[in-house]
Amino acid sequence: MSVILKPDRISTLNGVKVNEYLLTKHNPNRIAMPTASMAGKVIGVTVHNTDWITTIAGTTPAEQYTRATMNGNMNDVRVHYYVDNTCAWQNLPLDLSGWHAADGAGDGNRKTIAIECIMKSGSDARYAQSEDNCAKLAAYLLHAYGFNINHLYTHTHWLNVKDGKTGTVDQLNTMWNRYKMCPAYILPHWQTFKAKVQGYLDQLKGTATKPAAPVSKLAAASAVKMTYDQFQAKYLGKAVDYDGVAGVQCVDLADQYLKDCFGITNVWVQGARDFYNNFASYPALVNAFTRVANTRDLVIEKGDLVVWGGGSWGHIAIGNGQGDKDWFVSLEENTRGRHEPTQLVKHYFAGSGADDGCNPVLGVLRPKDKSIKGSAAASASKVKTVDPYLIKVTDNAGLNIRTGPGISYSIVSDTICHADGIYTIVAESTVAGQTWGKLKSGAGWICLTGHASKYGEQSRKSIEDIAKEVIQGKWGAGNDRAKKLTAAGYNYAAVQAKVNELLKK
Ligand SMILES: [Zn+2]
Repeated sequence: MSVILKPDRISTLNGVKVNEYLLTKHNPNRIAMPTASMAGKVIGVTVHNTDWITTIAGTTPAEQYTRATMNGNMNDVRVHYYVDNTCAWQNLPLDLSGWHAADGAGDGNRKTIAIECIMKSGSDARYAQSEDNCAKLAAYLLHAYGFNINHLYTHTHWLNVKDGKTGTVDQLNTMWNRYKMCPAYILPHWQTFKAKVQGYLDQLKGTATKPAAPVSKLAAASAVKMTYDQFQAKYLGKAVDYDGVAGVQCVDLADQYLKDCFGITNVWVQGARDFYNNFASYPALVNAFTRVANTRDLVIEKGDLVVWGGGSWGHIAIGNGQGDKDWFVSLEENTRGRHEPTQLVKHYFAGSGADDGCNPVLGVLRPKDKSIKGSAAASASKVKTVDPYLIKVTDNAGLNIRTGPGISYSIVSDTICHADGIYTIVAESTVAGQTWGKLKSGAGWICLTGHASKYGEQSRKSIEDIAKEVIQGKWGAGNDRAKKLTAAGYNYAAVQAKVNELLKK
């Protein structure tokens, strides 16, 4: 008997209970996973139907589909949400593409969020409730991304696009397709469903329907509009009261930053710490930022939104790029609760110095678009190929391997460079003052600064230099010599051959 899954997080989005269970975090059976990023590329929501199923006691169809996916029983279907009559289960982060539209690398798979609505045709109240939850969730997502109803797609839309058909969004949504008509149970009354989504969208906006924003403008919303340096130059020393409520607050500057630099205007928080704690509830943030937890290794980068969790509401500031693992400087307002205007403040992670009562730092929201740092900083993190050299992991906990240089890249699951392990580095990149090394195995990147040391520093010496050292007696003799040379990363046979050659001269 399968064990019913426990969600990592439960939230309510527009009245729909959403259980978060990301397959990127839970993949015990190593099922194949999509890897294409949708960060900054999302253009809308795609609706599907999948059949109602009876469930074991104590759970719902959406959980059972999630579990079936995790157990490798859904072939290669990967969706963002399964929705039934009582709840939704989120399987994929919103910035990761799914496999659902059968259009390969087309816009359906690569640029839309997939909702599988679990139901059947007929007048069963449960099916109607599933469809209603699907409409609510779709409206929530459209609203969160700033999209209008013309960004609501059917699965069949993408099949028609793939077949080279043309028409309006809705013509393509409903046009007959030889391969599949999906969502099969909703399509027969698509206009009714669409009107329902529109109704929820209007409620969320709290206004009558506004004219559609052009797609090009929405697509550009993810690109940085102003660099951090330009933002600092504009506001340093000024009092920013973005919402006109309760005077100058730290959140006012964060909101101004999101608007000016990222074009994000629809994130409403109760307190500063919500930016971090409820990050996943704000698709606009998920689209543009990566949440990075505060570990002892965290180095705040230029443009990071730094979030504290203490005090009544927490605190938020913007990293200006100075600092290391112990301290950083950030641009902020209301540092000590006296409505101080925008200033640069030095903070210590340990909580000394200029810190107020808002410790601890929970972590940061890191911009995905590195051009926030300006062109000079963006080019500073270039990768350079190096002569392969050996390192030894000095960190007792071992080292995570990431898909790229820097902690903004994701961790390669189930793989680690072990403490005292010897590895070969073939390329380097400097990120936030730390040197990252690319593993020869192709597994990914590791942070070298503070976690690894060059192994056998002599390895940069030529075989001839080592042979001379051997002759001088620095490497012992016989088996001992062979062992020492091998441990230091040298080819014993090659060194010995050179020794013989030198002695013959
Ligand atoms: Zn479908």
